[in-house]
Amino acid sequence: MTFYDVVVIGGGIIGLSTAFQLAQRKKKVLVLEQFDIGSGTSGACDHMILLQSKLPGLPLRMALLSLEMYKAWQRDLGENLWFETRGGMILVDKEEHLPFMERFVAEQRSIGLNVTMLDRKQIRKKQPFVSERVLVSTYCPDDSQIDPFSVLKALLSAGSRYGMELKKFSRVVALERNSDHWRVQVQSGDEYEAQIVVCAAGVWSSEICKMVGLEVPIKPKRGQILVTEPIDSVGDTDAWDSDYIIAKHVSHLQKDETAKRLNLGFAMSRTHPGNYLVGSTREYVGFDRSTTLEAFIAIAKRLIELFPIFKNVRIIRTFAGLRPACEDGKYVIGEDPKNPGFFVATGHEGDGIALAPITGALVTQLICGEKTSLTIDELSPARFRSSKKKEQSTVERGRF
Ligand SMILES: Cc1cc2nc3c(=O)[nH]c(=O)nc-3n(C[C@H](O)[C@H](O)[C@H](O)COP(=O)(O)OP(=O)(O)OC[C@H]3O[C@@H](n4cnc5c(N)ncnc54)[C@H](O)[C@@H]3O)c2cc1C
Repeated sequence: MTFYDVVVIGGGIIGLSTAFQLAQRKKKVLVLEQFDIGSGTSGACDHMILLQSKLPGLPLRMALLSLEMYKAWQRDLGENLWFETRGGMILVDKEEHLPFMERFVAEQRSIGLNVTMLDRKQIRKKQPFVSERVLVSTYCPDDSQIDPFSVLKALLSAGSRYGMELKKFSRVVALERNSDHWRVQVQSGDEYEAQIVVCAAGVWSSEICKMVGLEVPIKPKRGQILVTEPIDSVGDTDAWDSDYIIAKHVSHLQKDETAKRLNLGFAMSRTHPGNYLVGSTREYVGFDRSTTLEAFIAIAKRLIELFPIFKNVRIIRTFAGLRPACEDGKYVIGEDPKNPGFFVATGHEGDGIALAPITGALVTQLICGEKTSLTIDELSPARFRSSKKKEQSTVERGRF
């Protein structure tokens, strides 16, 4: 049986980022993936390093560091990640969202995000085809994007150069701690030994954590996306609406019945080949990855409402992915206090693409016994071991 320093469970963007950075630090790393790399959420999502959607505080600080790491990866990994900084705008066409958005932007600015409010005239300069119904918009010139598939491929190649190994179609079915190391069993019956195990299994993370008696409440939150045919760019930036921020952080404020059911927030971004990705929903429907006509109509209607120019553009396909959402709304990053050597990196909900570099860096620092670049105690899985009353989420505290 081969002995590894670290076994990473999950070949999504979080697992591969962590494995690559550990291999870079000379750890002998094995990634176990139940299917193929990107077969989970990292292969069925948007592509944004969206700073503006992050809660002011730790999530935004993590996103700012991640952005810098992506810039370095684009330069150093030796493959094109299709990193691009197009900037982002959050369009507000509902009067009642104005106070909320103004507060949100003010808090983000206080953390150091370069974000401003634009009036109608300034909006038109950047988005000449936007509907007259848009009252104001935010603008952040630093919102960026990458191509998740290219990142996964690049991390795998770069990691392999440092000796990282990947075993595909290796579903972990059991974990057992033997004195000072872990024995990891996969479905075929093969076993691997490692000093450290990292659970980066996305929406399946609860299942892995249960194997060591840790209850991490990760639930899949479905997001549906429409893909347009490739077209010329319709504006300078990618765009969202204020419902997107509401659906993500304070969904109980959704008013209209369909919006409530689908928890719809508009998102529109241009891929490097010229297709637009338009979404999306935030639905709790278990592990169902099908797309629905109701969501298709609701997303398409909103697209044409905000950008009437799209009424003659063809939708060529739809897809859905499952965001790994933790019940308390926070990411889960750290070591289980009851199981030395068992680390968790999950619960990134709609932020995992943006936060993959910094998450991998933080887990690597923890494993190497170094001071972390940010204080992340609040993300520790220790919170699920505590008998104390659970801390209220941002939403429950009514912060916004
Ligand atoms: C519609 C949509 C749009 C999104 N847009 C964005 C965006 O623009 N920007 C952004 O930052 N984020 C976005 N996200 C969120 C982002 O995609 C996720 O947060 C991220 O992909 C999660 O990565 P992960 O590695 O944790 O999970 P995954 O990619 O799901 O990886 C987990 C892996 O673990 C494997 N696995 C599970 N169980 C086992 C087992 N027992 N044994 C072995 N392997 C196992 C799975 O097969 C899977 O490959 C979006 C998500 C959706 C659904």
